Amino acid sequence: PLVLSDRINAMQESQTIGMAKKARELAAQGIDVISLSFGEPDFQTPQYIKDAAKKALDEGYTFYTPVPGYPELRQAIADKLKRENHLDYKPENIVVSTGAKQALANAVLSLVNPGDEVIIFSPYWVSYEEMVRLAEGVTVRLVGSLENDYKVTAAQLAEAITPRTKLVMYSSPCNPTGAVWSREELAAIAEVVAQHPQVYVLADEIYEYINFVGEHASLAQFDVVKDQVITVNGFSKGYAMTGWRIGYLAARKEIAAACEKMQSQITSATCSITQRAGLAALQGGRSSADEMVTAYRRRRDLVLGIVKDIPGLKTPTPDGAFYIFPDVSAYFGKTTPSGDTIQNANDLAMYLLNDGHVAAVDGAAFGAPQCLRFSTAAADEKLTEAFRRIKVSLAKLV
Ligand code: PLP
Repeated sequence: PLVLSDRINAMQESQTIGMAKKARELAAQGIDVISLSFGEPDFQTPQYIKDAAKKALDEGYTFYTPVPGYPELRQAIADKLKRENHLDYKPENIVVSTGAKQALANAVLSLVNPGDEVIIFSPYWVSYEEMVRLAEGVTVRLVGSLENDYKVTAAQLAEAITPRTKLVMYSSPCNPTGAVWSREELAAIAEVVAQHPQVYVLADEIYEYINFVGEHASLAQFDVVKDQVITVNGFSKGYAMTGWRIGYLAARKEIAAACEKMQSQITSATCSITQRAGLAALQGGRSSADEMVTAYRRRRDLVLGIVKDIPGLKTPTPDGAFYIFPDVSAYFGKTTPSGDTIQNANDLAMYLLNDGHVAAVDGAAFGAPQCLRFSTAAADEKLTEAFRRIKVSLAKLV
């Protein structure tokens, strides 16, 4: 009989992908399902980026590239980090990977030894825990409070760090909550981290451009912690380039070199054509993102306007990203028209899918079993219809 590794057997399948699969099954039966489960912009990649990719093909960019990316791309990333984030990095500090996801995985696998503790600001992005598990690290969830828009504070972090802590992971803007840590909040976190030189921080800034409050702050901006921070960013969200698979990290050169070594044995590098497209994206600045952000903000406001009239949902106002993450626990224990009891967020997600034909994701996947995550990266009419249906379905629960 086939015996798979303990490693793969211990790994969870991505719940966001699982829910999307169920929604597709219903859609295949002809049911009009509105899927708000996926974390993906509904915009096309801007035309100038597509044009650069076509040109790259015609110019013969079809060979293996350097493992950490083309030098001109790494330079353009260093320039972007300087211009927009006030960070001083050289190309040797940058590793381009197959999505921000691989950048995160490279860093976790390069830093975490078996038994090392990794503090994850919770709610957190689904893959963080699985990456830590793969590295045989021990995850420590540090939970932000609803009252503080789910943002973990410096004081909480100070209490959670132990001599075994190796790494801290968070995203800002946050998937799933949309929370954006302010400059002051990050300054306080930097002070705490600086007191523990054995601790590193993975700052996931993939949603940087999708920010409704203005200033994006990077933890690495604070000199006291610069060498302890690995900044991760990419193109999937800000440039609507999810399928192209390109992201990067910036870190002190020993960490960048370690990530390069890891990547050299696993994927070599991301696609040559994608890298040329990424270079063009950066050269074009962020104005294409600004147009998308206008739409994301309008949709957030649209959805919040409907949600405030649905009893029992507690939702902080997301300051960034494209999700809403209501606490739905007021519905736990209620009964559906067919007599089933809603015991948890997964039951509620299944009920909303079967009754209202709207797909969401169970908050348990993000470390918040009292919540559901809905993506707001969908057309306005779809969002209006989805939340109308959700309201109707929830009203049937007694
Ligand atoms: N980090 C966060 C917080 C995300 O939400 C995502 C994608 O959903 C990623 C990283 C991965 O991005 P990429 O498509 O660049 O691998």
